[in-house]
Amino acid sequence: MSYVLSKEDFGEINVSTARIYNTDNFNENFYYDGDDLGAVYKKDETRFRLWAPTAEKVILKLYDKGDGGTPTSTVDMVRTEKGTWYTEVKGDLNGVYYTYEITVNGQTNEAVDPYAKAVGVNGNRGMVVDLAATNPKGWEKVGYIKLDSPTDAVIYEMHIRDTSIDPSSGIKNKGKYLGFTEIKTKSPESGVLTGLSHVKELGATHIHLLPSFDFNSVDEKNPDTPQFNWGYDPKNYNAPEGSYSMDPFNGDVRIREFKEMVKAIKSQGIGVVMDVVYNHTALSADSDFNKIVPGYYYRITSSGAFSNGSACGNELASERLMVRKFIVDSVVYWAKEYKIDGFRFDLMGLHDIDTMNGIARELKKVNPSILLYGEGWTAGASTLPQNKQAIKSNISKVPDIAVFNDNIRDGIKGHVFDSEAPGFISGKYDLKESVKFGIVGAVSHPGINYSQVNYDRMPFAVSPCQCVNYVASHDNLTFFDKLIASTKGKSEEELKTMTKLGSAIVITSQGIPFMLSGTDFMRTKKGDENSYKSPDDINAIDWELKSKYMDVFEYHKGLIALRKAHPAFRIKTAEEVASKLKFIDTPDHLIAYTIENYANKDNWKTILVAFNASGNDEKVSLPLKTKWNIVVDGNKAGVETLATLQGDLIIVPAMSAIVAYDAETAKDTSGKTGALLVAIGAGVAAIAGILGAHYLKKRKKTKK
Ligand code: CA
Repeated sequence: MSYVLSKEDFGEINVSTARIYNTDNFNENFYYDGDDLGAVYKKDETRFRLWAPTAEKVILKLYDKGDGGTPTSTVDMVRTEKGTWYTEVKGDLNGVYYTYEITVNGQTNEAVDPYAKAVGVNGNRGMVVDLAATNPKGWEKVGYIKLDSPTDAVIYEMHIRDTSIDPSSGIKNKGKYLGFTEIKTKSPESGVLTGLSHVKELGATHIHLLPSFDFNSVDEKNPDTPQFNWGYDPKNYNAPEGSYSMDPFNGDVRIREFKEMVKAIKSQGIGVVMDVVYNHTALSADSDFNKIVPGYYYRITSSGAFSNGSACGNELASERLMVRKFIVDSVVYWAKEYKIDGFRFDLMGLHDIDTMNGIARELKKVNPSILLYGEGWTAGASTLPQNKQAIKSNISKVPDIAVFNDNIRDGIKGHVFDSEAPGFISGKYDLKESVKFGIVGAVSHPGINYSQVNYDRMPFAVSPCQCVNYVASHDNLTFFDKLIASTKGKSEEELKTMTKLGSAIVITSQGIPFMLSGTDFMRTKKGDENSYKSPDDINAIDWELKSKYMDVFEYHKGLIALRKAHPAFRIKTAEEVASKLKFIDTPDHLIAYTIENYANKDNWKTILVAFNASGNDEKVSLPLKTKWNIVVDGNKAGVETLATLQGDLIIVPAMSAIVAYDAETAKDTSGKTGALLVAIGAGVAAIAGILGAHYLKKRKKTKK
């Protein structure tokens, strides 16, 4: 922000406040590190403090409603330490709405307190709230979901509205926080479990909720008009979104319902991750931040425009001390007040490294198991120097935070911005190294040719804990839609096979697996690649697909069970990945590796994983001649033995994954293994279907 100063006879000069804001002098005089910004409620008095160092005058306005009407009283605030304005109001103000009227640069504007913990309808006024009174029954017993390592998480990405809005959800509170409090909901037609109980059945450890803080785009006054938005347009960072509430007009209701939702999710042993968007605000020049301290909260280009690395009109200047403090205070508030288990940072590349490390440090004090990850890129050019951006290539400097791995995402299925572009599983076999890059969790590994990786030509992760592997998220086409667009004339059976193979790669890879909700049952958005405001009939999850593709769902469930049962798929350090995971030399359409000697941690001493992306059955020579118990093939996945094979050669059927373990050195083998062996020995190939026949053939061969 710059403006013109003029004085008679002295001409005019352009004053750039941005320069002043960046000075040590400004920080020394105006950095306020107190913990009482906002409205601090007590039964007999509420204290208000606003940081507005450039303001000439600030008036607190109190209202009895969140919308309309005139103030019930106004109070002149007093300028006090470090550029803050302060006042206290006697009496019980719980439920009283408020705004600040700020005069700065000769202009007077009414603004919502950025620290407001409750807001009125559409977030146009703050509300004083007695937070203790918003706690649901038993809230004090609700804890955090513990993780030994971020690699133990399995993340399921969901949206409050699209989860329950379709009649097939069988959920009563459609499109609402309370939809996630309903247990054992079933689709009326087929009876499959939906919503929260679906996630429980699948076995995911964390539900990642798309933006659920107050965002701008949905008109909360018209709940009966169907409106959909992802919510990446922040309005009030510290209050829940109103349109997901049963009553957006009363500021405390959405808080209570959000907590009810968190409590219900955790009652199923599942953690809650919030998608947070501190990189930009919905409004720029007329945002509340800008009305209060013009130009401070945003990065400004040399020509005086809002820097637009978010492609949404502006970007927050996280490197400025009071912006950094705001972001850190905000996530800590959510983690403490709402018992949030993790955060996903939108366009994290627009945040500076110091801010992200500060966030991790403060959140770990609240919850040592906190799960932190973000998008390690920006959406456009930023004035923040690249060496300060929390992007993938710098993420080693932010060791407690993970980033999305787009190498494996596009490696498996093809480029996200070219819908017809195929990936490794759809015939573009030169993407093999990009897929392997994800298999090792983006760490340094002797078996990867980094010069052939699609985007990152070197490992970005210090440990697999920094790598989020996925094949699809809310952005771009769903996995199913991408397969439709990038393969021509595939049958439904073939698409199912490809879906299983793609997810088998993601879920068995080192790092943190992440899934868009419904990937496990071939979710479609009817080819819409940017459904951020598309109608419900595009975004809503059709739960009948789960019934239709029950075998695909069961396969995902089995893969997750396998991952959770075996720490070899969840290695914590780069050194162990490099030494324990060994690739087998194979042609480009095949990937095969073993995880060996993870014996102290895994009761399977040697695990074999193989992926065949070709249309033909393929032989793979194994480094070990032993008895292999196969637990994943192209049809089924889990921890139970599907078939057994003797020898050091395996046939991996076309378009299939294989996971097997060395049964001779495994610490425990279930009773079922023996039974199956007998069955196969007796020639009952039907047990594993056509695949069983392959193994059988193999077995006979090796017997010779
Ligand atoms: Ca809103």
